[in-house]
Amino acid sequence: MRVTVDRDVCVSHGQCEYNDPDHFQINDDGDLELDENPPDASRDSVLRAVSACPVRALSAES
Ligand code: SF4
Repeated sequence: MRVTVDRDVCVSHGQCEYNDPDHFQINDDGDLELDENPPDASRDSVLRAVSACPVRALSAES
């Protein structure tokens, strides 16, 4: 699957990281780092993270 972030919208407060720390992390500069091609086996946690973003900065497609 493929995950993208709209960096103009992301405010780096980390709800995605809280829900799926294996594929989303806020780095020391406060910027989101993400795995843009997570394995399908991680689909549930990735989609949980995408859904948790309060400003809808994340998109996922199969
Ligand atoms: S939850 Fe949304 S706004 Fe917050 S860091 Fe993740 S992508 Fe950015």
